Amino acid sequence: MTGSRSGQAIRSFWEHCFRQDEWCDHPARSNPDVVLDRALQRLIPLVFHVDGAEFYSNCEYYVWSLGSVLASGEVKERTHRLVAEVIVWSMDFAFGGVAPECGFNNEPFAGKRANRSGAQLFGGYRFAYFGRKADYKARRESHQFSRHYGCNLICEECMASRPKANPALSFKDFSANAPHLLTHLSHSDYVRTATAVTAWNQMKGFHYKTVFRDPMHTVFLGTAKEVLASCVGYWARQRYLAASMKLTIWFLAKLSMELAQGSEALAKDFNMRLIAVCLWSLQEALHILDHSDLVLAPSHAEAAHDHFMRHLQSWQHLAHACSGMVCRLFRLRPKGHYLQHIAMDIKRNRLNVRLTSACFYDESFLGYVKKIACSCHSLSMIKCQFWDRYLLLIAIRFEKSRRSVGAFPRVS
Ligand SMILES: [Zn+2]
Repeated sequence: MTGSRSGQAIRSFWEHCFRQDEWCDHPARSNPDVVLDRALQRLIPLVFHVDGAEFYSNCEYYVWSLGSVLASGEVKERTHRLVAEVIVWSMDFAFGGVAPECGFNNEPFAGKRANRSGAQLFGGYRFAYFGRKADYKARRESHQFSRHYGCNLICEECMASRPKANPALSFKDFSANAPHLLTHLSHSDYVRTATAVTAWNQMKGFHYKTVFRDPMHTVFLGTAKEVLASCVGYWARQRYLAASMKLTIWFLAKLSMELAQGSEALAKDFNMRLIAVCLWSLQEALHILDHSDLVLAPSHAEAAHDHFMRHLQSWQHLAHACSGMVCRLFRLRPKGHYLQHIAMDIKRNRLNVRLTSACFYDESFLGYVKKIACSCHSLSMIKCQFWDRYLLLIAIRFEKSRRSVGAFPRVS
């Protein structure tokens, strides 16, 4: 609310305003309790805002908000930092397995919380930080990464660069001896070189690589869209097919194999064979992840890595071929580089990113929440009905889970 301003600066601001017509008669100027030096240093000037917003079709609502004029554009950053600090504080006790004796701001507890202070939590279970997941925008903002997909240096994990800015470290090079592979940062390198170190660094067990890259946003909402569209575009451009069909990775991978083997003329087209390799490799890598447990067998981790890399390397060749044909297909974007990191991580730590870091369930949950909010008919109903419906949804899902697993005895 103060925008990091000192009390002296706030007082000077008010004294300046009191000399203007608008605020010369402001009661703060004549109130003896407020006009005192220290009180004026802690007087927050609020502004109110109202605007119409269409939450439901043909139905406009007025939304009121208020804020301090002293607040600066750093509010979003500070909110992320505060949320991280509260989570870190909470996780300290979840990891220790003992209830806290006072609140986040050292405030004393009362009632049930006071009685539980210092007691064992969760019947002896503990919770440990393992990682966090988010889409690329959220991970960039909540961790204040200075190198990201919007910059010339596109990656917080290494010095991969857009080719125009630094061709030697081009992120579009997926070969085994690409120069950017020599620039990977350790956690201490990251902390030492970051322009702003995330508050998550205080979390016990935090490592900057545990800010996972989500396969859903990297592949299914990222690279797969580009490569599938480009494959169909290439086939249509070469008049190999009429480009009206439902796109799925499996279908296209199978189709590409059939097309490449279908006739002598098609089999001679080297790019067609590359497309088949590109799609089939992706399909195989995803198949391995879909059918593996949390920790991949060494051979499966190796195979998934190899398939992903073959997918990217064949894509790189196709990008080069298409640029020679002056055709804007198979363009390489930063998400291709992020997929390379995912592949290398799979080989290194053998964790199944499909289970550890994918956002499928979280995004699905968000969808449920949005549906519930939209099904409420007014702001007042959102306030009351939203939580009833949300708890009902949780209860139904828990009951379904209980019945399917049979792990929890019915509580009567
Ligand atoms: Zn990188």
